[in-house]
Amino acid sequence: MQKGQIGVTTENIFPVIKKFLYSDHEIFLRELVSNAIDATQKLKTLASFGEFKGELGEMDVRVKVDKEAGTLTVSDRGIGMTAEDIDKYINQIAFSGAEEFVNKYKDTANAIIGHFGLGFYSAFMVAKKVEIRSLSYKEDAEAVCWECDGSPEYSMGPADKAERGTDIVLYIDDDNKEFLEQARIDTLLKKYCRFLPVPVISGKVQEWKDGKYVDTDKDKVVNDTEPTWTKKPSELTDEDYRKFYRELYPSQEDPLFWIHLNVDYPFTLTGILFFPKIKSNLDIRKDRIQLYCNQVFVTDSVEGVVPEFMTLLQGVIDSPDIPLNVSRSYLQSDTAVKKISGYITKKVASRLEELFKENRADFESKWDDIKIFIEYGMLTDEKFCDAA
Ligand code: ADP
Repeated sequence: MQKGQIGVTTENIFPVIKKFLYSDHEIFLRELVSNAIDATQKLKTLASFGEFKGELGEMDVRVKVDKEAGTLTVSDRGIGMTAEDIDKYINQIAFSGAEEFVNKYKDTANAIIGHFGLGFYSAFMVAKKVEIRSLSYKEDAEAVCWECDGSPEYSMGPADKAERGTDIVLYIDDDNKEFLEQARIDTLLKKYCRFLPVPVISGKVQEWKDGKYVDTDKDKVVNDTEPTWTKKPSELTDEDYRKFYRELYPSQEDPLFWIHLNVDYPFTLTGILFFPKIKSNLDIRKDRIQLYCNQVFVTDSVEGVVPEFMTLLQGVIDSPDIPLNVSRSYLQSDTAVKKISGYITKKVASRLEELFKENRADFESKWDDIKIFIEYGMLTDEKFCDAA
């Protein structure tokens, strides 16, 4: 058994994690599942370069609740970690002092977590003890088990694990028992993991039997690994777009039209923006644009990323180039974000022009619904005003 101290320069990060990340503590699941997906994608990449020659097998990520044991486990069949990897990536979390960080990043839990690469440690927001059991893809690797009970001491030793990959086991603490409910986990997975690129399995498919829902023995896949916005516009029909819209906003009437965004230079951005029927729905701003980073849900408050009048639109924007871990005021002055925002404005304006030119009667029939948008845009955004 190796014993050691996690490399934190200030006394103890765990109280900080618990205290300051409290409001957003559900995001631990997003962090752990994202790590599992990354590990899976990495192994696929290694395999495609011939650096991993073994059997890939099923590469699903699993999220399992065990109420009796009081545990929540996230498992993957990705690259895994050796003891050295754990030392390097988990034990040596270098950071520059709890005080400085608290002052600087009080805003949101997102800021703190992303900035310090604390993804994994967010597990301690909800767990009294965390175990890592891992077997690396490397030849002759030995399985390793790491555990830590929320003090800066961890212990690490050999494990008995035959399958390649990693299990992260969270011993959920008493204040967070909600995360031992499959229904709560389902809700979270739907929020954060719905469009992840690797199948995520949690719980069982249910069926209606004798007046109630019961589990079947079929695993339930919670995500759509190829969401509509990741496909080529030429492969999609109007009905595909409408279907995707209904998936995102089930209670809404069909959208008037949409714009499929797809850029890879000088920044990467994909997405679909929908024009909703504003007239018939004044509550529209509850169903907002969702921001993703490589198919991981980040937020549905996109102020700062798109001009304000665009927040009347709906849909999805996915970009790894939007800095997510900074404050809103910084975001607005970021050059990449300015470019992205400018690009979206231009796209929307030219789509409107196209509609006007292609079929004026149709455009006029939609005018009542889009005029609020256009007028608001003209009043608040100079570039859009010129185009309009
Ligand atoms: P980040 O993901 O931002 O790098 P984390 O604290 O979440 O920060 O993870 C630190 C590192 O630990 C990762 O970069 C990765 O190398 C390793 N890691 C975490 N989870 C896994 C996993 N499930 N499988 C393999 N490696 C992992």
